[in-house]
Amino acid sequence: MDRILSGIKPTGQLTLGNYIGAIKNFSRVQYDGEPFLFIADLHALTLPIDPEVLRKNSRDVAAYYLAAGLDPKHSTIFLQSDVSTHSELAIILQNYLYMGELSRMTQFKDKSQKMKEEAIGLGLFAYPVLMAADIVLYDAKRIPVGEDQVQHVELARDLVKRFNNRYGEVLTMPRAEVAKVGKRIMSLSDPTKKMSKSEPKGDIYLSDSLEVMRKKIMSAVTDLGHEIKYDPENKPGISNLMTILSSLSGKSFEEIEKEFEGKGYGDFKRAVADAVVKEMEPFKAKYEEIVASGLVDKVLEEGAKKAYDASKVVLTRVQKAVGLYRK
Ligand code: ATP
Ligand code: MG
Repeated sequence: MDRILSGIKPTGQLTLGNYIGAIKNFSRVQYDGEPFLFIADLHALTLPIDPEVLRKNSRDVAAYYLAAGLDPKHSTIFLQSDVSTHSELAIILQNYLYMGELSRMTQFKDKSQKMKEEAIGLGLFAYPVLMAADIVLYDAKRIPVGEDQVQHVELARDLVKRFNNRYGEVLTMPRAEVAKVGKRIMSLSDPTKKMSKSEPKGDIYLSDSLEVMRKKIMSAVTDLGHEIKYDPENKPGISNLMTILSSLSGKSFEEIEKEFEGKGYGDFKRAVADAVVKEMEPFKAKYEEIVASGLVDKVLEEGAKKAYDASKVVLTRVQKAVGLYRK
């Protein structure tokens, strides 16, 4: 069974984008392989964050994983910072990724854009190094991510090639897997921008009440005209809502276009809101149940042990290959 690896940064309240592009996807593929799913709390330190907020968000991500149906008996769920091999391997791997390629990463450019150069943390720049370590530590072949993370997985692939050329077949080649629909959910207030938990505009948060979710969809920015048609270039607002509806209902864009032929934006938005509420109602109830049960701490503790044992094997292999291992 191939190993599957992915993570979410506990930088803020999770969004519908994280749900569709990541969490829902994880639960869909979990029994196709052996998943290692983590909460990327070390990555969350790459931009300023309040310690208590980070602690709360981290446990929240774990609770949302479980609420989405991830089975801790099958999927290893853990905190990145609980497993020291991630940091140990990153220190080694930083020597095999170069300044030029790191400075070309879109996420780095986006997130550092408004910062003064003297104030940009090294961790933000080196983010893809730690992410490459996260990936290769488990010999994972399959990396389910949203579209925005594909560039980082590609860089991890470059690193694997470079490393193996020098030391032999030490690291396993990973591959990004993006969902056909829902790989990039856009902001409801600016459908040309990605919905991101750290950019508060136009997000639907998983913590929003069902009424607030409905309201946000009803007031989503739409496009000129009145046709329900999938055309991201000319109708980004409607296309984004169609993507949300399609990924939650399983209906194709053609089916949705047919269903709403001759109907207005109001009817269509109501249908999108209904689909979101139908999906979120049981999910949010499950989340509350899990938070109340105290299951999260137990899952994280057991997950950390399993992740450590699995990753130690790879770390040792790398240490031996580069000459750091004495035996
Ligand atoms: P941040 O603003 O802190 O970067 P984020 O919302 O981009 O937060 P990440 O923790 O960076 O979330 O990403 C977690 C996972 O969710 C990744 O696989 C990412 O590709 C996916 N993802 C994030 N935003 C979206 C989106 N709008 N649509 C689909 N997938 C998304
Ligand atoms: Mg992100």
